[in-house]
Amino acid sequence: MRRIWYDPHAAPYHAPSHPTGPINRYEAYRNIGMTVTLDEIYQRLYDVYGPQNWWPAESSFEVIVGAILVQNTAWNNAQLAIQNLRDADLLTSDRLYDLPLEELEPLIRSAGYYRMKARRLRNVLDHLHKHYQGSVDRFFDLDTETLRRELLSINGIGPETADSILLYGALRPVFVVDAYTNRVLKRHRLIDYDAGYDELQSHFHSHLEKGVPLYNEFHALIVRVGHLHCRKTPQCEKCPLEEWIPDGGICLPENERGNRRRGSRK
Ligand code: SF4
Repeated sequence: MRRIWYDPHAAPYHAPSHPTGPINRYEAYRNIGMTVTLDEIYQRLYDVYGPQNWWPAESSFEVIVGAILVQNTAWNNAQLAIQNLRDADLLTSDRLYDLPLEELEPLIRSAGYYRMKARRLRNVLDHLHKHYQGSVDRFFDLDTETLRRELLSINGIGPETADSILLYGALRPVFVVDAYTNRVLKRHRLIDYDAGYDELQSHFHSHLEKGVPLYNEFHALIVRVGHLHCRKTPQCEKCPLEEWIPDGGICLPENERGNRRRGSRK
């Protein structure tokens, strides 16, 4: 399967060296109250897990479809639905637009909430055909800010879905925040526990070098560590980030603090 962004020959991102030098860097950040930097988290996760090769898709349109189907479910479930659409030769904007809702629903049943997701897909297709002659390329000609605003104006597309489409479909340097991102940063006390989606995203934008390959890989690595370790009940033992648990332990419990403004749907 062709992966639309990933260049297997590209050099992996390496965190830039800090002015204090690599040996004193950790201590330098501790002195200003930080236990670990985003660069260090990225490098550790990359060293342990390697490249994640996101997003598995054959076209930008497929990224849009996948971003909606994966809402509130595991990727495997969404993938089954995508495979059904592929087998039926429906993974183009025009063919899916011509498909009646009642024929679309059973094809995407494995993704869960299939009636709601069929309507959400229909909303995107309506938008594409009403304003861009059904062309994803024309839609993606918009500048990043306008494109994000238009995506968010479509019923059923929230910040995480919009940013997934921007990063993995339109290849824009926009960091995707999800429930795992929220957990890792807050449990390690790297951001205020009341921080919402926008604040979390700004934290990444302002503390990392801007770049699609880095944002792509980093989000995928956070999903990996979240899936394996940073679950609702954290499994810190043997987690690659265990060494950086803050003094006094991780910030818990998440169901009693901060959820009101989390802004993530996973
Ligand atoms: S599981 Fe524990 S050590 Fe790992 S990221 Fe979560 S809080 Fe940190």
